Amino acid sequence: MKRGKGFLAIFLLVTILFSSVACSKPPETKSGTATAQGFGGPVTVTVTVTDGVLADVVVEAPAETAGIGTIAVEKLPEKMLEAKSVDVDAISGATSTSKAILAAAAEAYANAMGDQAVAQIKMAPGTYTNEVWAFSPNIKMEVSVTVSEDEILAIEVGKNGETEPILQNALDLFIPRILENQSIAVDAITGATGSSNGIRLGVMLALEQALEAAGSDPAAISAFQRPLPKESGKTVTLDYDVVVIGMGGSGSAAAMRAAETQAAAGQEVSVLAIEKAGKYGGTSAVTSEMMAINPPRFMADNNYEVREIQLGVFERPLEDTRTDKSVYVVVDEMKSAWLEYTEGDAKEEMIDIMMNHSGVTLDWLVYEHGFVFGKPQLGVEPSATYFCVYQYNDSFMDNKHIIITYFDTLYQHFTQLGGEYMLETEAYELLYDKETNTVTGVKARGADGTEYIINARAVILATGGFCGNGEMTSELLSDQYYPLKGKWNMVGMTQNDGKMIASALDIGAGTYNIGMAPIVHIGGSRVLLYDFETYTVEIDGETRTVALNDVPMIMAISGNVMAVNEYGERFAAETGLGFLEPWKGGPEFYAIWSDDQIQKVKEEGFDTVTVGAFINQGGVPTGYPIKELDEVIEAAMEKGICYKADTLEELAEELGIDVDNFLQTVENYNRYCAEGVDADFGKAADFLVPIKDGPYYAFVGAPYAYSTCGGLDVNTQFQVLRLDGQTPINGLYACGTDCLGVLFSEKKPYVTYGGAAQGWAYTSGKLAGEWAVKNMLE
Ligand SMILES: Cc1cc2nc3c(=O)[nH]c(=O)nc-3n(C[C@H](O)[C@H](O)[C@H](O)COP(=O)(O)OP(=O)(O)OC[C@H]3O[C@@H](n4cnc5c(N)ncnc54)[C@H](O)[C@@H]3O)c2cc1C
Repeated sequence: MKRGKGFLAIFLLVTILFSSVACSKPPETKSGTATAQGFGGPVTVTVTVTDGVLADVVVEAPAETAGIGTIAVEKLPEKMLEAKSVDVDAISGATSTSKAILAAAAEAYANAMGDQAVAQIKMAPGTYTNEVWAFSPNIKMEVSVTVSEDEILAIEVGKNGETEPILQNALDLFIPRILENQSIAVDAITGATGSSNGIRLGVMLALEQALEAAGSDPAAISAFQRPLPKESGKTVTLDYDVVVIGMGGSGSAAAMRAAETQAAAGQEVSVLAIEKAGKYGGTSAVTSEMMAINPPRFMADNNYEVREIQLGVFERPLEDTRTDKSVYVVVDEMKSAWLEYTEGDAKEEMIDIMMNHSGVTLDWLVYEHGFVFGKPQLGVEPSATYFCVYQYNDSFMDNKHIIITYFDTLYQHFTQLGGEYMLETEAYELLYDKETNTVTGVKARGADGTEYIINARAVILATGGFCGNGEMTSELLSDQYYPLKGKWNMVGMTQNDGKMIASALDIGAGTYNIGMAPIVHIGGSRVLLYDFETYTVEIDGETRTVALNDVPMIMAISGNVMAVNEYGERFAAETGLGFLEPWKGGPEFYAIWSDDQIQKVKEEGFDTVTVGAFINQGGVPTGYPIKELDEVIEAAMEKGICYKADTLEELAEELGIDVDNFLQTVENYNRYCAEGVDADFGKAADFLVPIKDGPYYAFVGAPYAYSTCGGLDVNTQFQVLRLDGQTPINGLYACGTDCLGVLFSEKKPYVTYGGAAQGWAYTSGKLAGEWAVKNMLE
């Protein structure tokens, strides 16, 4: 080895000496930089050309999606340097980021070569229609774009699977911005990022096609990709009595009630609500049901009758087993079950609030603000014993388009009373007077860069928790009972990033169960595949869908393999990974497959398929051989959602998990399989399939989180408490998910109390708004 190194050193020295003698003229180096809009944000490319040859390509793309866009960021520079050209093919599966990199690289190269002006725009006028993946993982969005020779004239969205009110925000706000600025580099609409980015991709493809049809240089697309400068330097000071941060369920209830309480006291209403998204509603506008206990008016109006049939994924006929038919719920029974479940960790007085005020809150929403709910039905265990869950519009699924209209009505009522609101305005810091322990307002920033100093006598935090902030979930979630620290996959609003919770912590706010598991019902693959076209097959005379993109998801949450957490340990019966139990593995877990199991899927198909009604692109039939499995595995490996190794030790090392723990887990699991008894988690014997010979594969699974659950500590007036758990921070209130932890325990998940999050959002919001004003009036 030593001799080899010495030889290499001498060789290099000779080469360097030789080249420095031979090239008397210093190399001519030029560089150029350009920016284009990627999938998540701006993508900047710097190219260096030495003696006319492409010598270096550096891509900076901080906002691209890990495991998708980042693959293009890593691979395209290598491809360009290999080809000595910036004109290379996009990376499949990361088309949007690739295209931005390719466009920016083309312009950067032109800049480096002194050809500042990119090719003249000349498009073939017409309408170009493309189908693109936007937010929906199941249905592509159809985007039609009409162009003239040099202008985008119109953008229309056709068939799609987006959540209706969220798409509407993108249609109302994002499309006009593209047209007005003739740029696809305008910011995505917060709260509608997936739909905005889908539209952006559709327009980008159309522009490319129009340029190509006119025989133009594709680099000309960069004329439509210039990010807009943010207006700044403007500071506006505002004064209100109450400012509510976040206009989801809890914030909207808080703002409305604060306005009502001021008006009822004969005061001029001085309530401002601010929201960082392009529309109010937050996560609350895409939910299904709220929990409420015995709403008096609603009960009487409905003759105390409960719903007969439960619809949706849990469909089952329900019997009305109440012994006391004069109420929906026997409060004492429900309360003591709740206290038992939370092992004394929840605040009893806050459970009382849920028991005593959620009913009148539902009545308030229905009778004063036009919300529509169906009769109550049983919730998910253990609240399943109680008729306490109310579906919006009396439907589990057919309600997403409706909920936003309830918010529209609520805000009509709010503004009629004199309340005001500002959208696309993000609060980022509390104004705090340490001397008097008083919050005096908040600093916020508008989408156009305007700074706001909002002075207020009460600030109500209603920001939906901090699950969108990987740093905060890594720092604040607890590993004491389950490995919860890390960045969680979100199906909830990623904009709920905890900035204001962090600001409250900075001024000394206390927390309550902040370390508990986020709200999660379903699990799946860490990242979805979009590489394969879905096709259909005839099986026993039935037409069945084969969505190969779903295969890594099926494999990540299969009940009949072994799954481990980051410590190399099992954490649940794997049959629960698709629903209710995936959170126990923390933000990421690994389903382990041995070669015989892989071969079986190829030759005979899956025994079970656990994607069902949840996030999937159509699933695959059981017992149908997946002949393309090798290709799927390759695509999954490219995306970082599958790892492969010849030995179990190597697999553990690749995953970065403790090798000894992992080997021990496999040994135990195989023993359970041989004995037919899962001594750790009681998984049914049918699902105990042993891990045999390699190569081995690990499919990366993840729980899909709605939001965090634990948060700030509050008292019964929803005042945020200091670290001592006693002293309120004057003028600071919290509601909704920002303080949902007071009802639960770090030892148990929220998940078994479905509906409570939404019920708490409205109930706590309504009371926080009321107390903020009442305390001010004193
Ligand atoms: C798909 C899905 C389905 C669900 N279904 C149910 C269900 O059926 N039943 C149930 O009980 N729960 C359900 N949940 C959970 C429940 O919806 C939430 O826990 C609840 O809506 C939270 O209400 P909130 O007001 O606290 O937060 P949100 O409704 O999310 O509102 C928070 C708002 O604050 C804004 N915001 C955040 N930070 C700032 C800032 N710094 N400045 C300004 N604005 C800011 C956000 O943009 C957002 O609009 C579901 C969640 C999801 C994602």
